[in-house]
Amino acid sequence: MIGQDQNQRSNGKPEGVAGRDFVSWSQLSTFRQCPLKYRFRYLDRLEPEFVASSLLVGSSIHRAIEYHHRRQLESNTQATLDEMLDAFWDEWRCRVEESREVRFGKTEDVNSIAKLAERMLVAFIASDVSTTSGIVIGIEERLTGSILTGAPEFLGIIDLVYVDGDTLVIRDYKSSRSAWNQGTAESSADQLLMYAELARTLLPDHEVRLEYAVVTKTKSPSLQVFEIDADPKRVERTKRVARRTLDAIASGVFYPNASAMNCSTCPYRSPCAAWKQ
Ligand code: SF4
Repeated sequence: MIGQDQNQRSNGKPEGVAGRDFVSWSQLSTFRQCPLKYRFRYLDRLEPEFVASSLLVGSSIHRAIEYHHRRQLESNTQATLDEMLDAFWDEWRCRVEESREVRFGKTEDVNSIAKLAERMLVAFIASDVSTTSGIVIGIEERLTGSILTGAPEFLGIIDLVYVDGDTLVIRDYKSSRSAWNQGTAESSADQLLMYAELARTLLPDHEVRLEYAVVTKTKSPSLQVFEIDADPKRVERTKRVARRTLDAIASGVFYPNASAMNCSTCPYRSPCAAWKQ
């Protein structure tokens, strides 16, 4: 178990998981997905052998949408498709420079990615999601809070925070190979429920609404919005599960959790194959 003794630095501050000062959703979800992958990424800090193009598309679309919202917030003007594509490629190039190799899917190359990015952003601009009905108060908002007992602060970077009447809305963008349904959204709910706990203190007198906005990476991309019920009992349960996940990490038991979905884009397949402990 992560306890006070085990995690005290000489300056008396609790030390974070994997030597960090904070716990993030990415750490928790990586461990849940595959404990050995967690170890390679956060403890051994192995350099990834490659980055899957699908991940680059996701982060680059994310950056283009962030650019769009910043333009709205800062100058009350709409970003054009070309400007959003520029933001997409800026992010793409940055990520490529950081990576040893970009691995494309079987039928993909940079040209097909360019067409996909354009289709996704055209769909985004045309959708209701591109304009919020309320007042934006945060874009890529970094929130921290001591929300897990005995653990370092939890850090959440929230894509979009806005106020709609007496409701505080927390939105997270996802890009997906296929359309979601409410069940898919519910299976991903823990991330937003943790963010709800972080955001609770921003406007304590407001209701909190949680939503995933999903853009599909398909021939005809769609924009879907799914609400997640921020019931306090669900939030408490999610925090308990997160705390137990940290306990499991601290126990030092790391094992491969192989599956087609986990391993197909895993950049640690060679060290995983060589793993003996
Ligand atoms: S290849 Fe699969 S089992 Fe091995 S570390 Fe990666 S995700 Fe885990």
